[in-house]
Amino acid sequence: MTPPRHAAAGDRGVYDVVVAGGGPAGCAAALTLAREGRRVLLADAGGGPPKLGESLVSVARLLLADLGVADEVLGSGHSPCYGSLSAWGSADLHAVDSLRDPYGHGWHLDRPLFDRRLRTAAGAAGAEVADRTSVSVQRLTRSSDDGWRITLHDRQDGSERAVHCRWVIDATGRKAAIAIPAGARRRTTDRLTAHHLTLAAVPGARDQPADGRNLVESDPDGWWYTALMPSRRRLVVYFTDPDLPSAVPRTATEFRRRMLATRHVSARVRDHDLTTLPAPGRAPAHTAYLDRVHGPGWTAAGDAAAAFDPLSSQGILTALYTGLSAGKAVAARLRGDMAALPEYATAVATARAAYGQGYRAVHAQEARWAQHPFWARRVPEH
Ligand SMILES: Cc1cc2nc3c(=O)[nH]c(=O)nc-3n(C[C@H](O)[C@H](O)[C@H](O)COP(=O)(O)OP(=O)(O)OC[C@H]3O[C@@H](n4cnc5c(N)ncnc54)[C@H](O)[C@@H]3O)c2cc1C
Repeated sequence: MTPPRHAAAGDRGVYDVVVAGGGPAGCAAALTLAREGRRVLLADAGGGPPKLGESLVSVARLLLADLGVADEVLGSGHSPCYGSLSAWGSADLHAVDSLRDPYGHGWHLDRPLFDRRLRTAAGAAGAEVADRTSVSVQRLTRSSDDGWRITLHDRQDGSERAVHCRWVIDATGRKAAIAIPAGARRRTTDRLTAHHLTLAAVPGARDQPADGRNLVESDPDGWWYTALMPSRRRLVVYFTDPDLPSAVPRTATEFRRRMLATRHVSARVRDHDLTTLPAPGRAPAHTAYLDRVHGPGWTAAGDAAAAFDPLSSQGILTALYTGLSAGKAVAARLRGDMAALPEYATAVATARAAYGQGYRAVHAQEARWAQHPFWARRVPEH
């Protein structure tokens, strides 16, 4: 076997790996590959709607520590989250305290800051970071020497440049913008959609102590989620299926009416200004996965490989885990280890299976509306 040729710093526009997507998965992959001595370009398109995932589970600190960035990424700017509240399976509120969590408390993230710090850390580890740079899949072609020729589009000035690499990591999130054109198929198991509003901070709230716990409350057609962000603005989300028309809160008025009709979320939102709300935003929140997470010259990580229902709170954690694992696997594959990527695929499948088990168990706990379509779809009959 010919020894692998590492792209040298002098080879302008030549990389061992291009990582498409600068969210948690792409950053973890780029960091890992850069530490392995690989020449990496981390390109993030940016410019989309603000990301919604802001609740980080405690165990994520271990992964960030494995990446060597826990303190710089979590050190300031985010709020600790000491537990969660849920009215699920019963109208009463139940609390889970992080005191019982062996990994300590979780966090409410300033999500743009979190992603930005991860990209900075990837840059500090040696990756070249291109913000506002989209990897164009239409013009991604296998070149003669078994690498990739890729067109990078700078969203700021509209310029384009071509680069060459041996491997591409698809960390572009739910759209899997590299893997699908490369031949992978995306499977979806449901159509869960998030309808969300962010309420302005209560004036003077920054100086007051606040209950920073997440709250989840189910209803006949879906479930509500609310959390206080580090800015003290409040995120309120209603999750339901788009084919349940009477369940979908389309306007601000409808969202407000339904929110105030809840038993517990209503108590959290009353102090916020609810007079001038915009129409709620929408975002896909369904479970989805690729039928394969690697192919000739590409590997998928994060939501691109497997995207989970936000009820699990596992999205960012799994993105960090699969990003780190994909980075290690691709580094090993470039050294000639042919088992590394199949092993990575097994690790992703194992994470998915654990998620699936948790998903079924949690939804089975909500039996009050078992005949309603939203719940009947999620709890298979035995
Ligand atoms: C409503 C909702 C609530 C959620 N809440 C939580 C939560 O509380 N906790 C949690 O852990 N998870 C939550 N999640 C999930 C979490 O946000 C995701 O799992 C996580 O962001 C996945 O990280 P990623 O790096 O795979 O993808 P992303 O974070 O989506 O990053 C993908 C990146 O790729 C870039 N990109 C896209 N196309 C291209 C291209 N062609 N070229 C270059 N770059 C490109 C985008 O700009 C983006 O930055 C939630 C999700 C939803 C929908």
